[in-house]
Amino acid sequence: MMYKNLYLRRGKEESLKRFHPWIFSGAIHHIEGEPEEGEVVRVLTAEGKFIAVGHWQIGSIAVRVLDFDDRNIDAEYWEERIKVAVEARRTIGVLGRDDNDMFRLVHGEGDGLPGLIIDVYGKTAVMQAHSVGMHVSRFDIANAVVKATSGMVENVYYKSETTLPYKADLGQENGFIVGGSNENVALENGLKFHIDWLKGQKTGFFVDQRDNRSLLEQYSNGRSVLNMFCYTGGFSVYAMRGGAKLVHSVDSSAKAIDLTNNNIALNFPGDQRHEAYAEDAFKYLDAMGSNYDLIILDPPAFAKHKDALRQALKGYTRLNAKAFEKIKPGGILFTFSCSQVVTKDNFRTAVFSAAAQSGRRVRILHQLHQPADHPINIYHPE
Ligand code: SAH
Repeated sequence: MMYKNLYLRRGKEESLKRFHPWIFSGAIHHIEGEPEEGEVVRVLTAEGKFIAVGHWQIGSIAVRVLDFDDRNIDAEYWEERIKVAVEARRTIGVLGRDDNDMFRLVHGEGDGLPGLIIDVYGKTAVMQAHSVGMHVSRFDIANAVVKATSGMVENVYYKSETTLPYKADLGQENGFIVGGSNENVALENGLKFHIDWLKGQKTGFFVDQRDNRSLLEQYSNGRSVLNMFCYTGGFSVYAMRGGAKLVHSVDSSAKAIDLTNNNIALNFPGDQRHEAYAEDAFKYLDAMGSNYDLIILDPPAFAKHKDALRQALKGYTRLNAKAFEKIKPGGILFTFSCSQVVTKDNFRTAVFSAAAQSGRRVRILHQLHQPADHPINIYHPE
Protein backbone atom coordinates (compact mmCIF):
# COMPACT_ATOMS: atom_id res chain seq x y z
CA MET A 1 0.00 0.00 0.00
CA MET A 2 1.36 3.41 -0.96
CA TYR A 3 0.15 5.95 1.53
CA LYS A 4 0.66 9.67 1.05
CA ASN A 5 3.27 11.25 3.32
CA LEU A 6 2.32 14.06 5.67
CA TYR A 7 5.14 16.17 7.11
CA LEU A 8 4.84 17.88 10.49
CA ARG A 9 6.21 21.27 11.35
CA ARG A 10 9.50 21.18 13.20
CA GLY A 11 9.10 19.89 16.78
CA LYS A 12 5.41 19.10 16.40
CA GLU A 13 6.01 15.38 16.99
CA GLU A 14 6.43 15.73 20.76
CA SER A 15 2.88 14.71 21.67
CA LEU A 16 3.08 11.79 19.25
CA LYS A 17 6.18 10.52 21.01
CA ARG A 18 3.93 10.27 24.05
CA PHE A 19 1.37 8.34 21.97
CA HIS A 20 -1.26 11.06 21.85
CA PRO A 21 -3.57 9.90 19.04
CA TRP A 22 -4.59 13.24 17.46
CA ILE A 23 -2.73 15.54 15.09
CA PHE A 24 -4.15 19.04 14.81
CA SER A 25 -4.18 20.81 11.46
CA GLY A 26 -1.84 23.53 12.78
CA ALA A 27 0.93 20.98 13.32
CA ILE A 28 1.09 20.06 9.63
CA HIS A 29 3.75 21.48 7.33
CA HIS A 30 2.65 19.87 4.07
CA ILE A 31 1.30 16.69 2.48
CA GLU A 32 2.66 15.02 -0.63
CA GLY A 33 -0.38 14.93 -2.88
CA GLU A 34 -4.00 15.55 -1.95
CA PRO A 35 -5.50 12.80 0.18
CA GLU A 36 -9.25 12.22 0.17
CA GLU A 37 -11.06 12.55 3.46
CA GLY A 38 -10.83 9.25 5.30
CA GLU A 39 -7.70 8.14 3.48
CA VAL A 40 -4.81 6.62 5.43
CA VAL A 41 -1.70 8.83 5.57
CA ARG A 42 1.85 8.30 6.87
CA VAL A 43 2.98 10.96 9.30
CA LEU A 44 6.62 12.07 9.28
CA THR A 45 8.63 14.57 11.31
CA ALA A 46 10.09 17.65 9.63
CA GLU A 47 13.31 15.62 9.38
CA GLY A 48 11.47 12.87 7.47
CA LYS A 49 11.37 10.27 10.25
CA PHE A 50 8.23 8.08 10.37
CA ILE A 51 6.15 8.63 13.50
CA ALA A 52 2.58 7.39 12.93
CA VAL A 53 -0.04 6.22 10.48
CA GLY A 54 -3.66 7.39 10.66
CA HIS A 55 -6.91 8.56 9.09
CA TRP A 56 -6.86 11.95 7.36
CA GLN A 57 -9.82 14.30 7.77
CA ILE A 58 -10.58 17.94 7.06
CA GLY A 59 -11.02 19.81 10.32
CA SER A 60 -9.15 20.81 13.44
CA ILE A 61 -8.24 17.18 14.22
CA ALA A 62 -6.57 16.41 10.90
CA VAL A 63 -5.21 12.94 11.62
CA ARG A 64 -6.49 10.28 14.00
CA VAL A 65 -3.64 7.89 14.68
CA LEU A 66 -4.24 4.19 14.09
CA ASP A 67 -0.74 2.92 14.73
CA PHE A 68 2.70 4.07 15.73
CA ASP A 69 4.30 1.34 13.60
CA ASP A 70 4.81 1.82 9.88
CA ARG A 71 2.28 -0.72 8.66
CA ASN A 72 -0.59 -1.32 6.28
CA ILE A 73 -4.11 -0.62 7.49
CA ASP A 74 -5.74 -3.65 5.89
CA ALA A 75 -8.11 -6.48 6.84
CA GLU A 76 -5.31 -8.10 8.83
CA TYR A 77 -4.73 -4.92 10.81
CA TRP A 78 -8.40 -4.60 11.77
CA GLU A 79 -8.65 -8.23 12.77
CA GLU A 80 -5.59 -7.93 14.95
CA ARG A 81 -6.82 -4.76 16.67
CA ILE A 82 -10.36 -6.03 17.24
CA LYS A 83 -8.90 -9.25 18.68
CA VAL A 84 -7.00 -7.19 21.24
CA ALA A 85 -10.26 -5.49 22.21
CA VAL A 86 -12.03 -8.85 22.48
CA GLU A 87 -9.31 -10.26 24.73
CA ALA A 88 -9.51 -7.18 26.97
CA ARG A 89 -13.26 -7.75 27.40
CA ARG A 90 -12.59 -11.35 28.34
CA THR A 91 -10.01 -10.24 30.87
CA ILE A 92 -12.37 -7.80 32.59
CA GLY A 93 -15.13 -10.41 32.62
CA VAL A 94 -17.89 -8.98 30.45
CA LEU A 95 -17.43 -11.53 27.66
CA GLY A 96 -17.59 -15.30 27.87
CA ARG A 97 -20.34 -15.43 30.48
CA ASP A 98 -23.71 -17.18 30.34
CA ASP A 99 -25.48 -14.31 32.07
CA ASN A 100 -24.04 -11.37 30.13
CA ASP A 101 -23.78 -10.88 26.39
CA MET A 102 -23.81 -7.11 26.06
CA PHE A 103 -20.80 -4.87 26.44
CA ARG A 104 -18.78 -2.18 24.70
CA LEU A 105 -16.24 -3.84 22.42
CA VAL A 106 -14.49 -0.73 21.12
CA HIS A 107 -14.39 2.57 22.99
CA GLY A 108 -12.67 4.93 20.55
CA GLU A 109 -9.40 6.39 21.81
CA GLY A 110 -9.72 4.20 24.91
CA ASP A 111 -9.06 1.21 22.68
CA GLY A 112 -6.57 3.02 20.49
CA LEU A 113 -9.13 3.34 17.68
CA PRO A 114 -10.10 7.04 17.54
CA GLY A 115 -13.51 7.61 15.94
CA LEU A 116 -14.88 4.08 16.41
CA ILE A 117 -17.56 2.84 18.84
CA ILE A 118 -18.82 -0.74 18.83
CA ASP A 119 -21.36 -2.16 21.28
CA VAL A 120 -22.24 -5.86 21.26
CA TYR A 121 -25.77 -7.05 22.03
CA GLY A 122 -25.84 -10.84 21.82
CA LYS A 123 -25.33 -11.84 18.20
CA THR A 124 -25.48 -8.28 16.90
CA ALA A 125 -22.80 -5.61 17.07
CA VAL A 126 -23.84 -1.98 16.63
CA MET A 127 -21.07 0.09 15.12
CA GLN A 128 -20.78 3.87 15.10
CA ALA A 129 -18.21 5.85 13.12
CA HIS A 130 -17.34 9.35 14.32
CA SER A 131 -14.68 9.94 11.67
CA VAL A 132 -14.66 9.67 7.89
CA GLY A 133 -11.77 7.20 8.05
CA MET A 134 -13.72 4.74 10.17
CA HIS A 135 -16.61 5.12 7.74
CA VAL A 136 -14.36 4.32 4.79
CA SER A 137 -13.01 1.25 6.67
CA ARG A 138 -16.44 0.08 7.86
CA PHE A 139 -16.63 -3.17 5.88
CA ASP A 140 -13.16 -4.32 6.92
CA ILE A 141 -14.00 -3.46 10.53
CA ALA A 142 -17.35 -5.26 10.43
CA ASN A 143 -15.78 -8.40 8.97
CA ALA A 144 -13.02 -8.23 11.59
CA VAL A 145 -15.63 -8.09 14.38
CA VAL A 146 -17.27 -11.28 13.10
CA LYS A 147 -13.93 -13.07 12.78
CA ALA A 148 -12.41 -11.85 16.04
CA THR A 149 -15.43 -12.85 18.12
CA SER A 150 -15.22 -16.37 16.60
CA GLY A 151 -18.86 -16.87 15.79
CA MET A 152 -20.39 -14.95 18.68
CA VAL A 153 -21.27 -11.87 16.60
CA GLU A 154 -23.15 -12.74 13.38
CA ASN A 155 -24.69 -9.38 12.45
CA VAL A 156 -23.29 -5.87 12.30
CA TYR A 157 -25.66 -2.92 12.32
CA TYR A 158 -24.01 0.30 11.12
CA LYS A 159 -25.48 3.33 12.86
CA SER A 160 -23.63 6.47 11.83
CA GLU A 161 -26.36 8.63 10.32
CA THR A 162 -25.95 11.28 13.02
CA THR A 163 -22.35 10.74 14.15
CA LEU A 164 -20.36 11.36 10.97
CA PRO A 165 -19.12 14.87 10.31
CA TYR A 166 -21.96 16.72 8.64
CA LYS A 167 -19.62 18.62 6.33
CA ALA A 168 -18.23 15.43 4.80
CA ASP A 169 -21.70 14.93 3.30
CA LEU A 170 -21.54 11.14 3.12
CA GLY A 171 -25.31 10.62 2.98
CA GLN A 172 -24.94 7.56 5.16
CA GLU A 173 -28.05 5.63 6.18
CA ASN A 174 -28.38 3.25 9.11
CA GLY A 175 -28.64 -0.46 8.37
CA PHE A 176 -27.08 -3.91 8.62
CA ILE A 177 -23.79 -4.23 6.75
CA VAL A 178 -23.26 -7.85 7.80
CA GLY A 179 -26.13 -10.31 8.27
CA GLY A 180 -29.42 -9.05 9.69
CA SER A 181 -31.63 -10.02 12.62
CA ASN A 182 -34.79 -9.10 14.46
CA GLU A 183 -33.65 -10.88 17.61
CA ASN A 184 -33.02 -7.97 19.92
CA VAL A 185 -33.08 -9.23 23.48
CA ALA A 186 -29.70 -9.17 25.21
CA LEU A 187 -28.54 -10.09 28.71
CA GLU A 188 -26.88 -7.83 31.25
CA ASN A 189 -25.89 -9.48 34.54
CA GLY A 190 -28.67 -12.03 34.07
CA LEU A 191 -31.36 -9.43 33.28
CA LYS A 192 -33.04 -9.25 29.90
CA PHE A 193 -33.33 -6.07 27.86
CA HIS A 194 -34.94 -5.26 24.52
CA ILE A 195 -32.35 -3.31 22.55
CA ASP A 196 -33.77 -0.85 20.07
CA TRP A 197 -30.77 -0.21 17.84
CA LEU A 198 -33.03 1.00 15.05
CA LYS A 199 -34.59 3.93 16.85
CA GLY A 200 -32.92 4.00 20.26
CA GLN A 201 -30.47 6.64 21.48
CA LYS A 202 -26.76 6.03 20.83
CA THR A 203 -26.35 2.35 19.96
CA GLY A 204 -29.67 1.45 21.62
CA PHE A 205 -28.78 1.04 25.29
CA PHE A 206 -26.54 2.73 27.83
CA VAL A 207 -24.08 -0.05 28.58
CA ASP A 208 -21.92 2.44 30.47
CA GLN A 209 -24.21 2.25 33.54
CA ARG A 210 -23.80 -1.51 34.06
CA ASP A 211 -21.67 -1.37 37.23
CA ASN A 212 -23.70 1.51 38.65
CA ARG A 213 -26.90 -0.45 38.13
CA SER A 214 -25.36 -3.35 40.05
CA LEU A 215 -24.48 -1.03 42.90
CA LEU A 216 -28.02 0.33 42.93
CA GLU A 217 -29.35 -3.22 43.13
CA GLN A 218 -27.39 -3.75 46.36
CA TYR A 219 -29.08 -0.72 47.92
CA SER A 220 -32.62 -1.43 46.72
CA ASN A 221 -33.91 -3.98 49.21
CA GLY A 222 -37.05 -2.73 50.95
CA ARG A 223 -36.71 0.77 49.51
CA SER A 224 -39.10 2.97 47.53
CA VAL A 225 -37.22 3.82 44.34
CA LEU A 226 -37.69 6.69 41.90
CA ASN A 227 -35.83 6.25 38.60
CA MET A 228 -35.87 9.67 36.99
CA PHE A 229 -34.91 9.89 33.26
CA CYS A 230 -35.42 6.12 33.06
CA TYR A 231 -35.10 5.70 29.22
CA THR A 232 -35.03 1.87 28.83
CA GLY A 233 -35.59 1.33 32.55
CA GLY A 234 -32.17 -0.16 33.23
CA PHE A 235 -31.97 1.03 36.82
CA SER A 236 -35.62 0.11 37.42
CA VAL A 237 -35.11 -3.53 36.42
CA TYR A 238 -32.09 -3.85 38.74
CA ALA A 239 -34.01 -2.21 41.61
CA MET A 240 -36.81 -4.75 41.13
CA ARG A 241 -34.36 -7.65 41.38
CA GLY A 242 -32.73 -6.00 44.38
CA GLY A 243 -36.02 -6.30 46.28
CA ALA A 244 -37.33 -2.75 46.13
CA LYS A 245 -40.69 -2.17 47.83
CA LEU A 246 -41.85 -0.14 44.83
CA VAL A 247 -40.21 1.32 41.73
CA HIS A 248 -41.47 4.39 39.87
CA SER A 249 -39.90 5.18 36.49
CA VAL A 250 -40.26 8.64 34.97
CA ASP A 251 -39.30 9.95 31.53
CA SER A 252 -40.74 12.77 29.43
CA SER A 253 -40.77 10.49 26.36
CA ALA A 254 -43.75 8.16 25.99
CA LYS A 255 -41.57 5.89 23.88
CA ALA A 256 -39.12 5.54 26.78
CA ILE A 257 -41.98 4.64 29.10
CA ASP A 258 -43.01 1.87 26.67
CA LEU A 259 -39.43 0.57 26.55
CA THR A 260 -39.27 0.57 30.34
CA ASN A 261 -42.60 -1.22 30.76
CA ASN A 262 -41.50 -3.83 28.20
CA ASN A 263 -38.23 -4.48 30.00
CA ILE A 264 -39.96 -4.81 33.35
CA ALA A 265 -42.48 -7.25 31.83
CA LEU A 266 -39.64 -9.22 30.24
CA ASN A 267 -38.04 -9.85 33.65
CA PHE A 268 -40.89 -9.53 36.17
CA PRO A 269 -44.16 -10.25 34.37
CA GLY A 270 -47.21 -9.19 36.33
CA ASP A 271 -45.17 -7.69 39.17
CA GLN A 272 -47.25 -4.90 40.74
CA ARG A 273 -44.33 -3.09 42.38
CA HIS A 274 -43.51 -1.09 39.25
CA GLU A 275 -45.23 1.90 37.65
CA ALA A 276 -44.03 4.26 34.92
CA TYR A 277 -45.03 7.84 34.20
CA ALA A 278 -44.48 9.95 31.09
CA GLU A 279 -43.76 13.33 32.65
CA ASP A 280 -41.28 16.15 32.80
CA ALA A 281 -38.70 15.61 35.54
CA PHE A 282 -38.98 19.03 37.10
CA LYS A 283 -42.78 18.90 37.17
CA TYR A 284 -42.76 15.44 38.69
CA LEU A 285 -40.23 16.39 41.38
CA ASP A 286 -42.25 19.48 42.28
CA ALA A 287 -45.51 17.59 42.57
CA MET A 288 -44.33 14.41 44.29
CA GLY A 289 -44.37 13.76 48.02
CA SER A 290 -41.47 12.77 50.22
CA ASN A 291 -41.94 9.04 50.07
CA TYR A 292 -38.90 7.93 48.09
CA ASP A 293 -35.82 6.76 49.90
CA LEU A 294 -33.79 5.99 46.80
CA ILE A 295 -33.71 8.40 43.86
CA ILE A 296 -31.78 8.09 40.60
CA LEU A 297 -31.10 11.18 38.48
CA ASP A 298 -29.52 10.29 35.14
CA PRO A 299 -30.45 13.18 32.85
CA PRO A 300 -29.39 13.75 29.24
CA ALA A 301 -26.35 15.96 28.66
CA PHE A 302 -27.24 19.46 29.87
CA ALA A 303 -24.24 20.94 28.05
CA LYS A 304 -23.12 19.81 24.63
CA HIS A 305 -20.75 22.77 24.12
CA LYS A 306 -18.44 24.84 26.29
CA ASP A 307 -20.68 27.93 25.95
CA ALA A 308 -23.52 26.07 27.63
CA LEU A 309 -21.47 25.15 30.70
CA ARG A 310 -22.78 27.80 33.12
CA GLN A 311 -26.39 27.12 32.25
CA ALA A 312 -25.81 23.40 32.52
CA LEU A 313 -24.32 23.68 35.99
CA LYS A 314 -27.34 25.71 37.09
CA GLY A 315 -29.56 23.00 35.69
CA TYR A 316 -27.75 20.26 37.60
CA THR A 317 -27.95 22.30 40.79
CA ARG A 318 -31.67 22.93 40.38
CA LEU A 319 -32.40 19.27 39.63
CA ASN A 320 -30.34 17.88 42.50
CA ALA A 321 -31.68 20.46 44.96
CA LYS A 322 -35.21 19.24 44.26
CA ALA A 323 -34.20 15.64 44.91
CA PHE A 324 -32.37 16.56 48.14
CA GLU A 325 -35.41 18.52 49.36
CA LYS A 326 -37.77 15.63 48.80
CA ILE A 327 -35.81 12.49 49.61
CA LYS A 328 -36.70 10.68 52.84
CA PRO A 329 -34.28 11.08 55.78
CA GLY A 330 -31.60 8.42 55.45
CA GLY A 331 -32.29 8.15 51.75
CA ILE A 332 -29.78 7.57 48.99
CA LEU A 333 -29.40 9.61 45.82
CA PHE A 334 -27.64 8.27 42.72
CA THR A 335 -26.81 11.33 40.65
CA PHE A 336 -25.08 11.48 37.27
CA SER A 337 -23.89 13.83 34.56
CA CYS A 338 -23.04 12.67 31.04
CA SER A 339 -22.04 16.11 29.70
CA GLN A 340 -18.59 15.92 28.21
CA VAL A 341 -17.73 19.53 29.01
CA VAL A 342 -18.76 19.20 32.68
CA THR A 343 -15.72 18.05 34.66
CA LYS A 344 -15.87 15.96 37.82
CA ASP A 345 -15.10 19.07 39.85
CA ASN A 346 -17.79 21.09 38.06
CA PHE A 347 -20.37 18.44 38.77
CA ARG A 348 -19.34 18.01 42.37
CA THR A 349 -19.66 21.77 42.88
CA ALA A 350 -23.16 21.71 41.36
CA VAL A 351 -24.23 18.87 43.66
CA PHE A 352 -22.59 20.61 46.63
CA SER A 353 -24.58 23.79 45.90
CA ALA A 354 -27.75 21.74 45.66
CA ALA A 355 -27.06 20.07 49.00
CA ALA A 356 -26.39 23.41 50.68
CA GLN A 357 -29.56 24.95 49.22
CA SER A 358 -31.65 22.08 50.53
CA GLY A 359 -30.08 22.37 53.98
CA ARG A 360 -29.92 18.58 54.25
CA ARG A 361 -27.00 16.72 55.79
CA VAL A 362 -25.35 15.10 52.77
CA ARG A 363 -22.44 12.65 52.58
CA ILE A 364 -20.77 11.08 49.57
CA LEU A 365 -20.88 7.28 49.72
CA HIS A 366 -19.40 6.37 46.35
CA GLN A 367 -17.89 8.24 43.42
CA LEU A 368 -18.98 6.45 40.30
CA HIS A 369 -17.63 6.29 36.80
CA GLN A 370 -17.84 4.30 33.61
CA PRO A 371 -17.05 0.57 33.71
CA ALA A 372 -13.91 -1.19 32.47
CA ASP A 373 -15.26 -1.88 28.99
CA HIS A 374 -15.10 1.92 28.50
CA PRO A 375 -11.35 2.19 29.11
CA ILE A 376 -9.48 5.47 29.26
CA ASN A 377 -6.37 5.86 27.12
CA ILE A 378 -3.67 7.02 29.52
CA TYR A 379 -2.03 9.03 26.70
CA HIS A 380 -5.27 10.82 25.87
CA PRO A 381 -6.47 12.96 28.79
CA GLU A 382 -9.38 14.40 26.77
N1 SAH B 1 -30.90 6.38 32.85
C1 SAH B 1 -30.98 5.89 31.51
C2 SAH B 1 -30.44 6.87 30.48
C3 SAH B 1 -31.13 8.20 30.47
S1 SAH B 1 -31.03 9.05 28.95
C4 SAH B 1 -30.27 4.55 31.40
O1 SAH B 1 -29.67 4.06 32.38
O2 SAH B 1 -30.32 3.95 30.34
C5 SAH B 1 -31.93 10.49 29.27
C6 SAH B 1 -33.43 10.33 29.25
O3 SAH B 1 -33.99 11.55 29.74
C7 SAH B 1 -34.07 10.15 27.87
O4 SAH B 1 -34.81 8.96 27.84
C8 SAH B 1 -35.00 11.36 27.68
O5 SAH B 1 -36.24 11.04 27.07
C9 SAH B 1 -35.22 11.81 29.11
N2 SAH B 1 -35.55 13.23 29.31
C10 SAH B 1 -35.02 14.31 28.67
N3 SAH B 1 -35.51 15.46 29.18
C11 SAH B 1 -36.37 15.10 30.17
C12 SAH B 1 -37.20 15.85 31.08
N4 SAH B 1 -37.21 17.18 31.07
N5 SAH B 1 -37.93 15.16 31.97
C13 SAH B 1 -37.92 13.80 31.99
N6 SAH B 1 -37.16 13.07 31.14
C14 SAH B 1 -36.40 13.69 30.24
